[in-house]
Amino acid sequence: MTILRDVIRADILEITSYPIPDATGFIKLDAMENPYALPWPLPDQLSKRLAQVALNRYPIPHPRSLLDKLKFSLQIPADCDVLLGNGSDELINMIATACSKSGAKILAPAPGFVMYSMSAKLAHVEFVGVPLNVDLTLNMVAMLKAITAYQPAVVYLAYPNNPTGTLFNNADIERIIRAANRSLVVIDEAYQLFAQSTWMSRISEFDNVVVMRTVSKSGLAGIRLGYLVGLPSWINEFDKVRPPYNINVLTQTTLDFMLDHLDVLEAQAAKSRKERSRLAEAIGELSGAHVFPSAANFLLVRVLDATAVFDALIGERILIKNVSKMHPLLAECLRITVGMPDENTQLLATLRKTLH
Ligand SMILES: *Cc1c(COP(=O)(O)O)cnc(C)c1O
Repeated sequence: MTILRDVIRADILEITSYPIPDATGFIKLDAMENPYALPWPLPDQLSKRLAQVALNRYPIPHPRSLLDKLKFSLQIPADCDVLLGNGSDELINMIATACSKSGAKILAPAPGFVMYSMSAKLAHVEFVGVPLNVDLTLNMVAMLKAITAYQPAVVYLAYPNNPTGTLFNNADIERIIRAANRSLVVIDEAYQLFAQSTWMSRISEFDNVVVMRTVSKSGLAGIRLGYLVGLPSWINEFDKVRPPYNINVLTQTTLDFMLDHLDVLEAQAAKSRKERSRLAEAIGELSGAHVFPSAANFLLVRVLDATAVFDALIGERILIKNVSKMHPLLAECLRITVGMPDENTQLLATLRKTLH
């Protein structure tokens, strides 16, 4: 259709959107979801709250009391403001939009979270990926050189990183923050409940740091909610590119409800952390498997033949993610989300049959 070429941007036409597989009937260990459901009686209580929501009204654009509750419940520093996004994916897009000056660049270690480069592309901002070391730690020489050479508008540091699970060294991060003193450094703490380590309390030590989080990996991927925490001057600018009413009423109400039950999500994360250790140890004992250290709710595992292992798991109706083709440093690597104990046991059984 030539009309497509007339209408749609050439760089958009070139994107091959990768298909998200239908996981119906599968053990789903591909997307870092919390595998545990909300325990009784929370679903009943929540449904009563949701039934009272005025669906005919637009959501409150700046839900002050909800934001105050969020700040209080999640130990967000008093001198910081919060911006809510429809998932942190939307916040990442808002950051790219707000920073898309002509010639601007967005920099992140590579391999990293795909949305950093995707959002840059959509906003016509150049993306600079700085390769990690082969052990998937930060290559500080390369990072500092790239920051000097490219003077990026934004530096993303996922803490811990996806898809590697690496928790970058705090002293290295501080050096990057100080070196990137003309850039905004976004510390992406999507896996904070699994890493139990945060930069949140240090935001106001610097004038160029914001912290981003999401509820997706800790049990609420379906409600699409991320939040950006930073000094009011930063948050105020990003708020200007926020689509109006971006957080729908059902999400606002669910968040309000869940903030009273964070202990439930924390207990589920604790189970996942325990399972992460068990899985890492068990997979590490299999021949031809190397497990990278992970502070997230997934493990990155290098095997001899990633496609063969992926296919063997599919044969047993277990879905993981083959990240081999994402980056040269990830050759023959699989990303396995930590599931419930019996799911992990089934995964291990298949891995034992396949790797020996
Ligand atoms: C999953 C993930 C996100 C996206 O989270 P959503 O809130 O679901 O959009 C952001 N950053 C990293 C590093 C992630 O792994």
